[in-house]
Amino acid sequence: LTILAIETSCDETSVAVVRNGREVLANTISTQIALHEQYGGVVPEIASRMHVEKINLVIKEALKTAGLALDDIDVVGVTYGPGLVGALLVGVMAAKSIAFAKSKPLVGVHHIEGHIAANYIAHPELEPPFLCLVVSGGHTHLVHVKDYTTYEIMGRTRDDAAGEAYDKVARAMSLSYPGGPKIDKLAKEGNKEAIKFPRAMQDGSYDFSFSGLKSAVLNYINGCKMKDEPINVADVAAAFQASVTDVLVGKTLQLAEEKNIPKIALAGGVAANQGLREAMQKACDEKGKKLYYPELILCTDNAAMIGCAAYYEYLKGTRADMSLNAVPNLPIGGR
Ligand code: ATP
Ligand code: MG
Ligand code: FE
Repeated sequence: LTILAIETSCDETSVAVVRNGREVLANTISTQIALHEQYGGVVPEIASRMHVEKINLVIKEALKTAGLALDDIDVVGVTYGPGLVGALLVGVMAAKSIAFAKSKPLVGVHHIEGHIAANYIAHPELEPPFLCLVVSGGHTHLVHVKDYTTYEIMGRTRDDAAGEAYDKVARAMSLSYPGGPKIDKLAKEGNKEAIKFPRAMQDGSYDFSFSGLKSAVLNYINGCKMKDEPINVADVAAAFQASVTDVLVGKTLQLAEEKNIPKIALAGGVAANQGLREAMQKACDEKGKKLYYPELILCTDNAAMIGCAAYYEYLKGTRADMSLNAVPNLPIGGR
């Protein structure tokens, strides 16, 4: 079963061709990062317009890479939420057009369920149930993945997402968007003990909070500036990253132990973070848990993960029709 998958929820125009859920024949990604960089973040109106400009080219390119024509496709899958409404609409309209013109079934996919599914592509042997830490630009969730299409959210951020905190702290350090990878790199050269930033929500709950940490870092940076003291950006990056990973790793392992879940997966853009991967691996080794995470290109936005999630939804019987619309705040498991 061959799926053509489309992802346009934020600033990546991506189209993939995925066979039987886990075999990626093409995963074409056109990123708009350079365009948004000058504004310090994603500008929704520019994102929508760029998706419109690129979508047909990216569809063609993906089919060419896969060596297939539209007639060879069995199912069309598309991200319909959550995300920027104007950006989502471009992908949804393209998917509906193809499904209508070629009389193919259409499956709407939840973007975050796609991020989780990236792990199935990276690990052909991985099957639910497992516990997934979703850490992306807009979400921080601890999700119990009960089967391929059943999700229970066990914890979530009360304010900023982990990726959002990375990007905002990076901006305060004059690093360009997206800040996550840059802080990750700087952190390797810094001393994480040099500055003590807070660890939030140490109350036994599985919820997260990153806005207090963000403020602590901004206060520290402003304090240095007021006192005309030099800022060691590598130390700030290392101390900030240690605070984020301590909390993420601590809560994930605590929940996995409490629920007796042997498998843990990472998903979303921040799952690309080297410090998080290493800290989580160490903790999992200590507690006898098996850790899964996708390769870097499958952590950030891409359509291959959407094709994988669409496959399992299709098998379950999920179908969309021509009334499919973009849902900017679509809840997980909420179709
Ligand atoms: P969402 O998936 O919640 O809708 P999004 O699609 O914008 O949001 P992703 O593409 O999943 O987010 O991830 C982008 C985020 O990941 C950005 O905030 C970016 O800074 C962060 N990120 C990417 N690489 C790294 C890294 N190595 N370390 C930390 N953060 C990273
Ligand atoms: Mg992006
Ligand atoms: Fe994403």
